[in-house]
Amino acid sequence: MEITTNKNPTILIVGAGIGGLSFYHSVRKNLGNTFNVKIFERETSPQDRWQGYNIYIHRRGITSLFYCTPAEVQARLPEAIPNSIPKEHHAIAIIDHVGRHLLYVPQQKFKSIYEIEPLKHDFAGMVAFRNRLRDVLLEGVDVQWDKKCVGYEECDNGVWALFEDGTREFGDLLIGADGINSPIRKQKVPSLEIIDLGVTSIDVDIEIPKNLADRLMFVYANSLMQKSLGRNGDSFFSMMRFIPIDQSDEPSYRVTLGYGYPTNLDIKDNIVIDDKNPEAIIKHAITRIKQLRPPCELTDLMIELFSLVPFSHPGEKYPFRTYNPPRRRQLRDIDPLSVPPWKNDRIVLLGDAAHAMNPLLGLGVSNAIEDADLLTKELLNYENDNLIACIRRYNEQMRVRSSKDVTKSRNTVLRQRDPVGNFGLIVRYSIFRAINVLINFIVFVKTHDIVWGRHVTGSSILLN
Ligand SMILES: Cc1cc2nc3c(=O)[nH]c(=O)nc-3n(C[C@H](O)[C@H](O)[C@H](O)COP(=O)(O)OP(=O)(O)OC[C@H]3O[C@@H](n4cnc5c(N)ncnc54)[C@H](O)[C@@H]3O)c2cc1C
Repeated sequence: MEITTNKNPTILIVGAGIGGLSFYHSVRKNLGNTFNVKIFERETSPQDRWQGYNIYIHRRGITSLFYCTPAEVQARLPEAIPNSIPKEHHAIAIIDHVGRHLLYVPQQKFKSIYEIEPLKHDFAGMVAFRNRLRDVLLEGVDVQWDKKCVGYEECDNGVWALFEDGTREFGDLLIGADGINSPIRKQKVPSLEIIDLGVTSIDVDIEIPKNLADRLMFVYANSLMQKSLGRNGDSFFSMMRFIPIDQSDEPSYRVTLGYGYPTNLDIKDNIVIDDKNPEAIIKHAITRIKQLRPPCELTDLMIELFSLVPFSHPGEKYPFRTYNPPRRRQLRDIDPLSVPPWKNDRIVLLGDAAHAMNPLLGLGVSNAIEDADLLTKELLNYENDNLIACIRRYNEQMRVRSSKDVTKSRNTVLRQRDPVGNFGLIVRYSIFRAINVLINFIVFVKTHDIVWGRHVTGSSILLN
């Protein structure tokens, strides 16, 4: 497949999520002389739908974000990913069901996102406000709103994107950046299925007062990514910034919470809940916590936090500009290596459309932005190469990289899904202790840039 027209080829992007917007910026910034670009989104406006939780963005995603975005967007990134304050540590702390520390994965300390961008190791990242990141990425982007794509039609010299309103748009390349339920993927690779991991999660965003935020930070030793593993296949997850979102009489903080438990518990108990009724969902979450957790201070704290979930739209106040009613949500993923390589043609998948992963390791957003970075770099070869070769190289690398992270995230869920008895608990503690020592050693070496016998940064620390 060669593009033979005299005018610049046109790229159509379907989906103005973080992946699609990153790629849009990247085309304009890095390929602007070679390609035209248009972007379409099913939402009716930037405020149409709730844009989500606090998210963790891995160093790889941050480096790619800088590659993809122009200076004016980069200057605004701290609005979405604020500079760290001294008390915060963007590390991962895992505790057990009664609050004993199991694992602490340290991350390199830094003041701002700009310090992370040039790092080469993987032990850095930052907790971001996802809705603000979407806002910042919309800067300067001419999104065509209210354009729900329902499929495409290929022809000899291009591809038509088809929309629900009966319109169609012609381009040379169609990028499906339309999320986990992508109609473009369903048409292009129908055998690539969404897998249900057998865990139900109830995820919510809440605003908490300072005294509760202090307790949470104390329990997790100031780590911003916080997890408590239960004994019954359940886990409690929280993620926060210790930066107030409201400075009135008592400062308050935004926290994202998730409580996950094996789905078969709801099936076995024949649970019937109206998933459209927020109050019923939160009652159910609290009932499960009481049932699966021992009475202790940590359990009380979990219940107290879930009791703060708003049952209706709390007004226009940030961060709740739009409201996402709590509901039971199945953890699901898509492994791109579960099917043979698909055809390298004008239809290209990017982000969750190709490789959705469960949120446990916080790698989904990073992979979507890395796709945007990779696809741009492959398309830079377009002048000397034909388009299909660029797309083949993108597909090969994207599938392998993202599949690794899908598998890692999936295995983490599956390992935690089964209940553990007393012996299992001892094994769990021993494994975590061993990992703790190993990971702290690796992180120390990587973050201090040490090579065997020598400290690269010039300090006098020697390993032997
Ligand atoms: C509860 C939860 C917590 C998460 N936490 C993290 C985290 O901490 N760290 C992390 O890295 N990842 C996290 N993730 C995953 C992360 O949200 C996704 O990996 C990421 O959003 C993928 O970006 P994307 O642009 O590919 O897709 P999306 O963000 O899903 O964007 C797709 C866009 O396409 C639009 N669209 C969909 N269908 C159509 C259509 N037919 N026509 C036109 N437009 C369409 C959608 O409206 C949307 O705007 C989490 C996910 C969940 C569910």
